[in-house]
Amino acid sequence: MKNESVQWFAFYKDLLLVAREKDGFTIPCMPNLSKIGANPIRTQYLGMLNNRPCFSAELSDMSIPEGMLLEPLRSLFGLLNEEEYAMAGTGLQIVNWDKTHQYCGRCGAGVKDKEDERAKYCPDCGLLNYPRISPAIIAAVIKEDSLLLALRYAPTLGGISFYSVLSGYVEPGETLEQCVHREVREEVGIEVKNIRYFGSQPWPFSGSLMVGFTADYVGGDIVPDNKEVTEAGWFRADKLPHIPGKISLSRKLIDWFSQNYR
Ligand SMILES: [Zn+2]
Repeated sequence: MKNESVQWFAFYKDLLLVAREKDGFTIPCMPNLSKIGANPIRTQYLGMLNNRPCFSAELSDMSIPEGMLLEPLRSLFGLLNEEEYAMAGTGLQIVNWDKTHQYCGRCGAGVKDKEDERAKYCPDCGLLNYPRISPAIIAAVIKEDSLLLALRYAPTLGGISFYSVLSGYVEPGETLEQCVHREVREEVGIEVKNIRYFGSQPWPFSGSLMVGFTADYVGGDIVPDNKEVTEAGWFRADKLPHIPGKISLSRKLIDWFSQNYR
């Protein structure tokens, strides 16, 4: 295999290094990053894409080469091709995991990468750690022809607000279905039934795996918890408020509702 064809998913903090093309962006290809004056803190093998090996890298301060730029991964949605975007999401999670798991959580010794799988082990006490993924549920609750949506404030998206389906992290000891019941009850005081699996999506920005469900309303009046939710309501498909962008599984759930409850 030719050396030239290594694809580099290089991150500086949470920003991805991309090359500007006529009609979008691409992931830089080169034998190693020293070619553009970068001296990565750590690199990680990600897998193969289009017969090319892909690596992620954690960049230290460097000057950005001409024709390239650092962009938040989220804003590159739709501007990179789908496979590259998914690989970049994997890269972001792996880079962050590698950076924050250099020492054993039990005894504090420096850990080593396991050779036969993506894991780190402690040579002193033997503790084994895999990349951390935090499962979270998102739930589309339906009452007759209306969908339950809650106001979300997104500081990481420039402080914009939009309405979305309910979501929350799974707690230890909880099934996904129990989590749906609890989150909906806690956030808006509503009881649900008929919880059905919808689909899932890795969410690299918070190291999560989003697991989507639909559910039917059983009872209760909407009472926002005033912590995670300050405003919520029932919305018909023809009167939807400002909803999230196409990138998210929440949007797929809302689109599914719009198509099936017109
Ligand atoms: Zn240890």
